[in-house]
Amino acid sequence: MHNKSESGLQSFIERCRRYGLKLTPQRIALYTILDGVKTHPTAKEVYDEIVKEYPHISIDTVNRTLNTLAEYGFIDVVEGYGEPKRFDPDRESHHHAHCIICGTIIDFQNNRYDELEIPKEITRKFSVLHKRVVLNGICGDCDNPRKS
Ligand SMILES: [Zn+2]
Ligand SMILES: [Zn+2]
Repeated sequence: MHNKSESGLQSFIERCRRYGLKLTPQRIALYTILDGVKTHPTAKEVYDEIVKEYPHISIDTVNRTLNTLAEYGFIDVVEGYGEPKRFDPDRESHHHAHCIICGTIIDFQNNRYDELEIPKEITRKFSVLHKRVVLNGICGDCDNPRKS
């Protein structure tokens, strides 16, 4: 295990203790799988990974654990209006470029997007907790076949 995820795991364990969240081996394994992952996996994709290590775990448990981790702010739920839900372990402020064909989500940073002003008609009736710019489009891989 490399250093980054070791320290990530350490702080995960400490925060679980602080929140009074039980540290089950499955929760730790799940967090370890998600730590540093950039693919914004669905519960099913996380399940396919963790089941290699815990053959008796159910998709239900994975679903519940992911929702608990999201509820406590360890991971994010990716914006989207359809199923399946996708999860984002990267809690640093970042933006998404989302391919509408293959579903790939590319993370990116942009200071100007971070500083985007919220329109008054929104702030009047809505308190903003979190801001993310989502670009919908077609990724390079999906775009190439159309050109050939
Ligand atoms: Zn694509
Ligand atoms: Zn992301």
